[in-house]
Amino acid sequence: ANKINFLSDLTGSFSSPCSENPTVRMIEAGYQKEGMNARFITCEVGPEKLEQAINGAIAMGWKGFSCSLPNKQEVIQYLDELDTSAQVIGAVNCVVIKDGKLTGYNTDGQGFIEALSDITSVKGKHITLLGAGGAARAIAVEAALAGAKHITLINRNEERGEALVKLIEKNTDAKASFTKWTKQVAIDSQTEILVNATSIGLNDEEAIPDIDLASIDKAMIVADVIPNPPETKLLREAGKKGCTTLNGLNMLVNQGAQNVYNWFGKKVDRAPMKASLEAIFNAK
Ligand code: NDP
Repeated sequence: ANKINFLSDLTGSFSSPCSENPTVRMIEAGYQKEGMNARFITCEVGPEKLEQAINGAIAMGWKGFSCSLPNKQEVIQYLDELDTSAQVIGAVNCVVIKDGKLTGYNTDGQGFIEALSDITSVKGKHITLLGAGGAARAIAVEAALAGAKHITLINRNEERGEALVKLIEKNTDAKASFTKWTKQVAIDSQTEILVNATSIGLNDEEAIPDIDLASIDKAMIVADVIPNPPETKLLREAGKKGCTTLNGLNMLVNQGAQNVYNWFGKKVDRAPMKASLEAIFNAK
């Protein structure tokens, strides 16, 4: 009787720079709500110390960790297994440590698809994505695996855009095409869902992707991956046109909740996780 367990289950993140990453607050809000004796520790770790950090996590019995920039691809060489999404995307944002074995997952795209599913299904849809970086890759692959019909990629760097087209066509049943990003680029009128998956708008309320706003139709759903500020200029402009919009907050919360599920097999309440982020972003 009266035995208290002072040993918490440990999780955390390895990324660099990391001091402005609010993930710890979001994850621990979830742990607290569920009454879990678990902690999440933000660690400043770049590629050069990643192997040591992973070995440390194994030694300390961590349940797992999340990976952010610049480790999402670097981490793969240290893992034993990859989940299908992580394998196709070629990047990992969540690692589970179980019985000394490391398994990599990618929950970024799934977090987006789940957030979108509150509004619509991607099945059979024509999606236009701005960007071809990590977030765009994750969203494009998950959308294609979830049954999207066509994905148009608009990117500044042609090589990255073309590579993502090939990746989608090789690994999924979706069709994909690439459009080089030119000034005031027009959005294909077939588009049903437009997603900004570039970093444009992050921490900048007035920044907006250089697209022809006149080509956005009110029937289009317009989504943004940027979580902060949640209502980016792109979403405000699309809202003015009557479009349904989706911000990047739920995507962030969903991927976090999925990471916790991967580590603990437990579904956590997402409401306090989202509230913790809103409090931080509004306070800034
Ligand atoms: P990457 O660096 O991998 O990719 C950035 C992309 O943005 C590239 O396609 C790049 O184009 C494009 N880009 C950047 N600046 C410009 C510009 N001025 N004009 C045109 N294109 C531009 O970053 P990530 O994909 O990892 O992250 C992108 C954003 O997604 C981040 O801001 C992050 O906050 C957000 N994100 C949100 C998540 C969420 O859960 N809500 C999860 C993951 C990311 P090019 O290839 O031509 O260089």
